[in-house]
Amino acid sequence: MIRFEGIHKSYDEKQALAGVDIELPTGKISVIIGPSGCGKSTFLKLINRMIDPDDGQILIDGSPVLSRSPHQLRLGIGYVIQEIGLFPHFTVEENILIVPRLLKWPDRKKAERLGELMKLIGLSDGYRGKYPHELSGGEAQRVGVARALAADPEILLMDEPFGAVDPLNRSVLQDEFAAIQSKVQKTVVFVTHDIDEAVRLADHLVIMRDGKVVQAGAPEEILQKP
Ligand code: ADP
Ligand code: ADP
Repeated sequence: MIRFEGIHKSYDEKQALAGVDIELPTGKISVIIGPSGCGKSTFLKLINRMIDPDDGQILIDGSPVLSRSPHQLRLGIGYVIQEIGLFPHFTVEENILIVPRLLKWPDRKKAERLGELMKLIGLSDGYRGKYPHELSGGEAQRVGVARALAADPEILLMDEPFGAVDPLNRSVLQDEFAAIQSKVQKTVVFVTHDIDEAVRLADHLVIMRDGKVVQAGAPEEILQKP
């Protein structure tokens, strides 16, 4: 479980998070939804210490994130973002295996894992040697998901991961991601401003406005309330 306790975060004068208290369940998809500028990216970046709070604390399974180094957290937490996620001068294989390489996995273990991941995202082995510019937007995002999952992280952070993909392919990617999640069962924190995407994917829905959580719970409960 990921737990935010009294989290405040400002950039210079601008208050991005104004007292957030929330729990996100383990092994489920929590979708953070709200208008642009409400603090969604800030929320995500606090979890893997890309930024630290001004006040309050974040706990992962009871242990404060501040007790772990940003480097350690980035190896143990997958991160998928819109578009620019892949390194352009690395092949698909090299992109996917970045974290296993940093963790100094033996070649055989890396090769086995690559095979599993290509199967999981539904890309044939012919894609291994391709460069990001040779991929469609949807294929690139699949590779981004594989890269984030490569070393079997406990948590997956996704910041508008399908935001740059056209609507038709976007719904295909959403369904594929739901199928992947049913196999891997990660604690997913998924940021979007698209309500259809949120309803489609969320086990747990967190609605934000102006740096605050205004509602949180099962989507069917929240959306039925007047
Ligand atoms: P969202 O992801 O919901 O669009 P963000 O968390 O990115 O929201 O931003 C929340 C608020 O903080 C916005 O008003 C944004 O302009 C501001 N903000 C975000 N990052 C910075 C930054 N590095 N410097 C100054 N203001 C920032
Ligand atoms: P991302 O969505 O890729 O995480 P950023 O964190 O860089 O992007 O920016 C998130 C939001 O914060 C955007 O709305 C952006 O305009 C705003 N922002 C980023 N940096 C600054 C800044 N230095 N001053 C004001 N707003 C900023």
